[in-house]
Amino acid sequence: MDSSFTPLRCLSDQHALELFKDDNVETVTSVEQKKVERSVQEVFSVYQQNHTLSQPTLLRDQHYAYLKKGLRHLSDAYECLDASRPWLCYWILHSLELLEEPVPASICSDVCGFLARCQSPTGGFAGGPGQHAHLAPTYAAVNALCIIGTQEAYDVINRQTLLDFLYSVKQPDGSFVMHVGGEVDVRSAYCAASVASLTNIINPTLFEGTPSWILRCQNWEGGLGGVPGLEAHGGYTFCGMAAMMILNKVHMLDLKSLLRWVTSRQMRFEGGFQGRCNKLVDGCYSFWQAGLLPLLHRALFKEGESTLSMRNWMFDQQALQEYILICCQNPAGGLLDKPGKSRDFYHTCYCLSGLSIAQHFGSKDFHHEHIVGKEENRLAPTHPIYNICPEKIAQAIEHFHQLPVPVHREEAASAPELP
Ligand SMILES: [Zn+2]
Repeated sequence: MDSSFTPLRCLSDQHALELFKDDNVETVTSVEQKKVERSVQEVFSVYQQNHTLSQPTLLRDQHYAYLKKGLRHLSDAYECLDASRPWLCYWILHSLELLEEPVPASICSDVCGFLARCQSPTGGFAGGPGQHAHLAPTYAAVNALCIIGTQEAYDVINRQTLLDFLYSVKQPDGSFVMHVGGEVDVRSAYCAASVASLTNIINPTLFEGTPSWILRCQNWEGGLGGVPGLEAHGGYTFCGMAAMMILNKVHMLDLKSLLRWVTSRQMRFEGGFQGRCNKLVDGCYSFWQAGLLPLLHRALFKEGESTLSMRNWMFDQQALQEYILICCQNPAGGLLDKPGKSRDFYHTCYCLSGLSIAQHFGSKDFHHEHIVGKEENRLAPTHPIYNICPEKIAQAIEHFHQLPVPVHREEAASAPELP
């Protein structure tokens, strides 16, 4: 492991050289960028004044208290997320597994009961009990249940109706709509591929045409847009790339141009990532963007790329950790987008997930840790495709792969009847 006493990048004398230069052409976005850099610079210098030893600390106890409370009670501010309740379960449970904080069995059982009530009678999960099934909460619910990883959790998932639901949102061109009558975008392909692969319901027709459709979302920038023809965006790029990994078709993408695009999204001064070109840093892209680098590393390695490092991802892992630890922690627990923003469970989950990606390179024999600050800052590793801890993925796959792949009922019904 690397020394914990590596001097902080953000406190070095040369760091100010990384500040944004507008070449005397002021625009709305250049003004915003400078404003953010000033606030980040202030946070870095306050940190420097208050700490003689430059070892930023992950506020574990505070984050734990914030997350534990959220599992039982949410303030009125979360009313707007009433249609995203399985997401709250996933964001909190995944944050807790990264912090290696166990969840009491009784709470796990309550979460299973709640998610069972979110499951639609026609398959898939809805944002809350009695709502319509939607691919995003379906992804979140299946991930949350796999994190819990008990028989009770696995038994919540009705695999036959889940498959029916996936067919009901599948489009003739290979794409998926988010819900029946809803919009198409590349998130849906990832959500569908993720839940179908975890629960072992993939059959030969389910993803027919999907890789070619995803490929159409990659544009001249190198990243992927939400649908063909749109601007490249971190969240959509992650979804498209991760779906291609699951479907074993990642070689269809232009990996080098994707690599160039994503590495240019790490901000020189702040150390965190922006979601799109010319946008501001945001803590949640610590996962959506940095999480692409382990996927690219694996894909390029498989293609026989010989110049890959066996110790580091192709982004500045130290700079990202400094940004998350110094700029994105609320002192009372929870993590956030950027200084001045408030904490929430979404940013807590994706800042911690990005921190974990930046701390752990590779897996098994090639595992190498680079932890900024004390050893206590170490989080559990996360699986870069599913964003759940790898043991839970292995356990879920082992469980569901003992079960037969359900038959698509429409196909079965249209098969010629025997005399
Ligand atoms: Zn964000």
